[in-house]
Amino acid sequence: MSEAYNPYQTMLNVLDEAAKKIGLKYNDYVTLRYPERELTVSIPVVMDDGRTEVFTGYRIQHSSSRGPCKGGIRFHPDVNLDEVKALAAWMTWKCALVNIPYGGAKGAVKCDPSKMSIDEIRRLTRRYTAMILPILGPEKDIPAPDVGTNAQIMAWIMDTYSMFKGYAVPEVVTGKPLEIGGSLGRTEATGRGVMFTVLNLIEKLRLAKENMTVAVQGFGNVGSIAAKLLKDQGFKIVAISDVSCALYKKEGIDIDKAIFYAKNNQNLLQGYTEEGLSVITNKELLTLDVDILIPAALENQITEDIATEMGAKIIVEAANGPTTNMADKILEERNIILVPDILANAGGVVVSYFEWVQNEQSFMWDEDYINSNLEKVMKKTFEEVWQVHKEKNVTLRMAAYMVALDRVAKAKKIRGIFP
Ligand code: GLU
Repeated sequence: MSEAYNPYQTMLNVLDEAAKKIGLKYNDYVTLRYPERELTVSIPVVMDDGRTEVFTGYRIQHSSSRGPCKGGIRFHPDVNLDEVKALAAWMTWKCALVNIPYGGAKGAVKCDPSKMSIDEIRRLTRRYTAMILPILGPEKDIPAPDVGTNAQIMAWIMDTYSMFKGYAVPEVVTGKPLEIGGSLGRTEATGRGVMFTVLNLIEKLRLAKENMTVAVQGFGNVGSIAAKLLKDQGFKIVAISDVSCALYKKEGIDIDKAIFYAKNNQNLLQGYTEEGLSVITNKELLTLDVDILIPAALENQITEDIATEMGAKIIVEAANGPTTNMADKILEERNIILVPDILANAGGVVVSYFEWVQNEQSFMWDEDYINSNLEKVMKKTFEEVWQVHKEKNVTLRMAAYMVALDRVAKAKKIRGIFP
């Protein structure tokens, strides 16, 4: 992998710059350039046809300075160690930015869940959980869903962990089904947070939301819900996409219909039709002449050439790490406003935190309470980042990193280095 596309290097470049900007010496933050702990495991699974397949899995804990490590688990055929390391570090910055008492972690299994049966996925999940069990725990490291995983998979993780403990431990994982201690609003939380972020931004820019055009790359849990909630707010979603295709309609796509279609089509948009809808390429979607582009898929989507041809005026990163460092510089030069991932997609982990708190209290909050508290956290965080952005004349990404790094570095300094 070239360094320009290595997500861990991308993360380090921003970290080093942010450290300089807030006046940290190398010694003050050098530990944060390394994950605290990296665990690679081999996961044997008896497949339905009787073959034994061995999958590679990871759990990376980047930082526990501000609290237990926290972060999702990804099931995807292309994952690699540096990517998971970057995703873990981004969780550290994200949790610090929204000021919840967590560090950062991430896990992944290199597999293609779309080609596996539900039984194979269950066996894989349980064995993976057993392999990383020593480093998990409600006070140690708390997984959650990410790309390719869902509430059912969290339930298997919770059950596997609980079986080893001998009693139910719902708070070991978030994003669980409601029946076993999941939180209302958690499934929609990341998309809802993206929606709040868009609203917070356009309020600052004094723009009216009605008929603003939006393109969304990725139609999974985050992209589809962000698209739906923004459509309900009066935005016009003119383009959507997933791994199977990209679709465009000038008058705005019927998002509810598209969500219904995908749900009944193995979560794919392929074959979806509606009058006036045309099929476009992924590149066309990313460079469309729209008001807002929302990358909600994977890393390294907005590259130099995409940034050079970018038609959107605003980018809101719903995915983690969708923009390369070089593309970032081009967007800055072109005065394209970018709200970074660690701010825009933080809604998921914020409601994960609410879920964990509810579990710790054995008490269930109602959905309005959860959503209004999420709104408050997103607003307060946006204000803090916006203020640094204006005062220090830095991009929103740099401002967000400066706020987050300051918190983590201070926590580290106060705790000191053991022994
Ligand atoms: N996977 C989500 C993220 O990247 C959520 C993590 C969590 O809730 O712990 O932010």
